[in-house]
Amino acid sequence: MVGFTLLVALLFARASTAEPIPSPTRLVYAPGLIVPIPAAIPHEDGDMVDRRILPDLRWIAARFPIMITDGYSGPLPNGEHAGCNNCHVKGSDHYNGLAVDIVPVSPSSRCDSHWTAITRLALWAEPAQNKPRPPFRWVGYEGDAGHGCGNHLHLSWNHALAPRFQLAEWVETFPAGKAATSATKQPPKKAKPPAPSGPPGGISQARTGGISAAGSGD
Ligand SMILES: [Zn+2]
Repeated sequence: MVGFTLLVALLFARASTAEPIPSPTRLVYAPGLIVPIPAAIPHEDGDMVDRRILPDLRWIAARFPIMITDGYSGPLPNGEHAGCNNCHVKGSDHYNGLAVDIVPVSPSSRCDSHWTAITRLALWAEPAQNKPRPPFRWVGYEGDAGHGCGNHLHLSWNHALAPRFQLAEWVETFPAGKAATSATKQPPKKAKPPAPSGPPGGISQARTGGISAAGSGD
C-alpha cells in the first residue's frame, strides 16, 4: 500500500518536472547579508538566509508548496544564534546561509501524498542522483542519508568557497526576478481597506465576539 502510494507520488512527480530552471544562471557578486526570510516564503520562525538567494526562493515558493525549516545556521552579529545548533555536517552550506531545508507545508513524517510536491521539487533540482542542475551545488533527498521523502529536502546553491559563518564572495543563482513577479501577480489583493473597527473599547469587542474565532491568521 505504502509502496503503491509512493509509486503514484513518484510518477506524478516525474510527469510534472517539465518546467526548466530559468537560465542562464549567473554569479552574483553583490555583497551578501544574512537576513530574515520574508513572509512570502513559508518558513519556521527565525529562519534566515543570505539575501542573494531570496529571489530564487521566492520563485520556488510561488510554484511549490514549501516550508523552510532551516536556513543559515550560526552566530549573528548581535551575539544571537540563527538556525539549529550543531545539526548540520561539517562544511555545510547552512553555515554560509546558502542552503535551506524544506518539508511540506502540511507536515508529515511519512512518505505520503503530502510529499508529492517536494519530490517534484527535488527532481526538478536534481533529475539524476548527484547531478544537481545549476545553480544548485548539492541536493539532499532520496538516496542521501538523513534526507528524502518523509524526512526533508536540502537545497544548496553554488558559491565561492568561504569559511564557516562567513559570506561567500559570489553565489550562483537563476534569473528569478521577472518570472517570480509574473507568477506572484495575484496577491496584491492585500490592499483591502482596513477592516471596519468599532469604537475602541470592550463594548464593541463583546458585540462582535465572532471575530476572535478568525484569529490573527499569522
Ligand atoms: Zn540542510
